[in-house]
Amino acid sequence: MTTRKRILTGDRPTGKLHLGHYVGSLQNRVRLQDEYDTFVFVADVQALTTHFERTDRLAADVRQVALDNIAAGLDPEKTTYFIQSMIPEIAELTAFYSMFVTVNTLRHNPTIKAESQQYGYADLSYGFLGYPISQTADITFCKADLVPVGEDQLPHMELTRKIVRRFNDLYKPVLPEPQALLSDCPRLVGLDGKAKMGKSLGNGIYLSDPSAVVAEKVNAALTDPARVRASDKGTPSVCTVNTYHSVFNATEQPDLAERCKNGSIGCVACKKRLCASLEDLLAPMRERRAHFTAKPGQIDEILQSGTAKARLIAQETMREIRDAMQISYF
Ligand code: ATP
Ligand code: MG
Repeated sequence: MTTRKRILTGDRPTGKLHLGHYVGSLQNRVRLQDEYDTFVFVADVQALTTHFERTDRLAADVRQVALDNIAAGLDPEKTTYFIQSMIPEIAELTAFYSMFVTVNTLRHNPTIKAESQQYGYADLSYGFLGYPISQTADITFCKADLVPVGEDQLPHMELTRKIVRRFNDLYKPVLPEPQALLSDCPRLVGLDGKAKMGKSLGNGIYLSDPSAVVAEKVNAALTDPARVRASDKGTPSVCTVNTYHSVFNATEQPDLAERCKNGSIGCVACKKRLCASLEDLLAPMRERRAHFTAKPGQIDEILQSGTAKARLIAQETMREIRDAMQISYF
């Protein structure tokens, strides 16, 4: 029996993971995997909240997300990988928690508001509106202590903590109150320089992009629009490439920004430096990816054994939950 504290995080299988995921959440997961008992799940039910009409890609995306995490360095020997929809206790817990969360609380959640605009929902489905409750079930079935997330998830984490306190007060104190873990870069901007890098937004550099694709994307990235010639004096603070340097090439960034300001480095050379730093990060990921795809069925095995382990924990928690709620009848 482990006495280590537990981490839980997940990603929606809505496409390939990108650099935003890496700096916002994956990096922390990788860093803490030895210290914490780590659970990473593929949030396929949550993907359905926006992708329920496009289930044909789900099976491939589930594997893609797991492989992206493994490639990022979350060792499947240490981390439990599982699939959300294969833990029915999560749906059960969601139903119980939903009794004491008001519709208004969900409607006023800033992330729900922003996302419903992004997806163009004039009218929200019941499932979409309630996904933060489902997230609470994800986090609490395994009694996670720490949840590494991007800043868009903070309102959901606050709700989770509220639900936990409410449950413990109403019934019995069986659930620990989880903490969000934000990274130094909780919101990485996309290549368009406008929205956050998002897999549904088509503005990302993916962890699985080959080096030629990374170079192509970096070369097309928005820089200071007022800068035409390499000798023009630039304004790094409005340049997306400069933002990426500060995240992925922090040691060189101050010098590069200075040279941009005095017109002694051009955008082409500056972008080359960024590509080199990104290669340092992505090349080892490509190697791990190749290793884990070499043996067919390996990702499926990891997901199946992890799901079986998570299921046992869920069943144990459900016993405590039903007991606390006085609904274990026989
Ligand atoms: P989608 O557009 O389909 O919602 P997404 O790119 O937002 O996809 P999610 O699966 O919703 O990805 O998010 C997974 C985790 O990654 C969350 O913790 C989220 O906060 C974090 N994350 C996503 N995008 C970024 C980003 N650009 N910067 C930092 N963290 C991010
Ligand atoms: Mg998202």
